[in-house]
Amino acid sequence: MIPKETVDRILETARIDEVVGEFVSLKKRGANMIGLCPFHNEKTPSFNVSPARGIYKCFGCGKGGNPVNFVMDHEQLSYPEALRWLARKYNIEIEEQERSPEQIAKEGERESLFIVSGFAQKHYTKNLHETEEGKAIGLTYFTERGFRKDIIEKFQLGYSPDTWRDLTDAAVAAGYKLEYLVKAGLTIQNEEDASKYFDRFRGRVIFPVHNASGRVIAFGGRTLKTDKKVAKYINSPETEIYHKSNVLYGLFFAKKAIMQEDVCYLVEGYTDVISMHQAGIENVVASSGTSLTIEQIRLIRRYTSNITILYDGDPAGIKASFRGINLILEESMNVRVLLFPDNDDPDSYSKKVTPEALRDFITANTKDFINFKTELLKADVGNDPIKRASLIHEIVDSIALIPDAITRSVYVKECSRILDIEEQALLTELNKLRRRQHDKKREEQSIKEAPLPELPPDVTAPEDFVPDQPAREGDHTQVKSGEVFERELVRLLLNYGQEPVVAKTTDEFGVEIEVTVPLAELMLHELESDEIAFNHAVYQQILSEYTQHINNGNVPDLNYFVNYPDQNIAQLAVDLVQIPYQLSDWERHFIYVQTESQLLRQAAVHSVNVLKLTRLEQMIAENQKQLRDTTDDDAQLKLMQQQLNLLNAKRHFSSLLGRIILK
Ligand code: ATP
Ligand code: MN
Repeated sequence: MIPKETVDRILETARIDEVVGEFVSLKKRGANMIGLCPFHNEKTPSFNVSPARGIYKCFGCGKGGNPVNFVMDHEQLSYPEALRWLARKYNIEIEEQERSPEQIAKEGERESLFIVSGFAQKHYTKNLHETEEGKAIGLTYFTERGFRKDIIEKFQLGYSPDTWRDLTDAAVAAGYKLEYLVKAGLTIQNEEDASKYFDRFRGRVIFPVHNASGRVIAFGGRTLKTDKKVAKYINSPETEIYHKSNVLYGLFFAKKAIMQEDVCYLVEGYTDVISMHQAGIENVVASSGTSLTIEQIRLIRRYTSNITILYDGDPAGIKASFRGINLILEESMNVRVLLFPDNDDPDSYSKKVTPEALRDFITANTKDFINFKTELLKADVGNDPIKRASLIHEIVDSIALIPDAITRSVYVKECSRILDIEEQALLTELNKLRRRQHDKKREEQSIKEAPLPELPPDVTAPEDFVPDQPAREGDHTQVKSGEVFERELVRLLLNYGQEPVVAKTTDEFGVEIEVTVPLAELMLHELESDEIAFNHAVYQQILSEYTQHINNGNVPDLNYFVNYPDQNIAQLAVDLVQIPYQLSDWERHFIYVQTESQLLRQAAVHSVNVLKLTRLEQMIAENQKQLRDTTDDDAQLKLMQQQLNLLNAKRHFSSLLGRIILK
């Protein structure tokens, strides 16, 4: 455990421009620096570093944070590891604090699992190359499969002999604890009799699975028996260091090529990845052992936004590719598909042809998902109008999942052309589907979160209300109506909370006077006057922090939140930070810029009022509903009186906001 004072010192010392500068070449642009984002592929720089704010932020992929976040993300390190990395860079000595036995156990356990997995990999590899059985059976098998020596070594393939405890005995003899071998999934222990145990992988060739930074975390083993009763492949179970759904086989070896080629090939298994590498195509990963997950897609999105699915063309492969298409589209990524013919998969096909022919084949046969689906389904549609309709549905279904409107409309055009259907008809269908998906999401969400009364349909944000941050791509949870306004208030607090503004108040004689206070104080005052709390937990937590600090006579600065221990808050702070927009000289010359700071007071009061208005409108709707449901005369009278009060209040706030009330 790193002592808190040391953490603070690291955070104070680390300079964001120096840390990022180790990996990204940065150019000065006004007060900020700008460069090509290391987290996604781009040709024009949208990666901003603000030394003044101590953060980086990419306007292309949305990644952002403080120096620690950068090191964690870029170097694939855990939080304490990233702190150590920074401490080393800045020569800050870390005196390790006494750790609680629990912490030691926890950290020690993960590390121990990495270590025994590493040992196992070396042991299996040694078996393959240095034992008679390994050479005769395992190495021969790989060679006959056509794997080259350098490739066998690169992927650290191995062999486990057909005996009970080869690995476990060797590991225990080398001083590794049986407990960790069991927890790493390498050894299976008898539940009743702990003295009975045996290797999970026996008589198999071994494919080690690496995490993104290249450490071995799990294994796959293929049997060499032809006995149909023996499972062809077995894999490590879920462990502390191996969560199947978050791992892609081959990613460590593919990362660089994926970025260079700006596309990631997705295949089914170990052998496909390896064979493609051998053919010189290295931007390949497999979702080995599970069907494709959202986490795996997001892993790929760090390196590219283009995925091409390469599956074999049997019914299972087609079904898996349909599912994959929809998942990938939903994550705002581009998906293309190539099915291999005649029971071939990438592994077997790449063995049949030269590397050049494989490349040509892929280029020539990869289809965007609309063409892919159309061609597959068209065959049995013929002129049948019902089948034709369901084909259209099938395709529009996928398009409807795409979060970005412009991309959707491009595909609608494409679809209209290919299927020869009016664009308008497709759009109508699309909108219907999107509404349905939206409702479904809302339903799922409202189950998860505290229910909010439905807003009446006439409530919309005032025209001049522009949320500063566009919803991040891929982050397509719909921002709930009230949430937008809460978010806007938090944004103002974080960015300008400390700015002095002039507020009107009355002195002890009731005379109106002007005082200068920090903006945060004015905003809290405005909110408190109507006892408004935020519905959204993270926003409320930030609001509470402000209240506490202001009661103690200070206003927390942005850094306080950017470096907040709770990652939800730190990330939100980064998301909402405004990196001042740099105008070109040309713009400066011709346009008079009224910055937000100048309009600050107005903006703050305005936002508070907008929030109050939405709350009022919720209350009005709620009241109306009660009114409808009540038959009791007295209660009705009371509710009507309340309704009048609410409507008056609404009129008041609406006029403050300069809105016209139509009813
Ligand atoms: P064969 O030599 O009979 O073609 P194979 O080893 O190529 O066998 P396939 O059955 O063709 O295996 O499967 C293709 C890929 O799917 C393999 O590379 C393997 O990684 C993966 N695979 C198949 N079954 C499993 C499984 N149970 N767990 C993990 N991966 C599997
Ligand atoms: Mn095969």
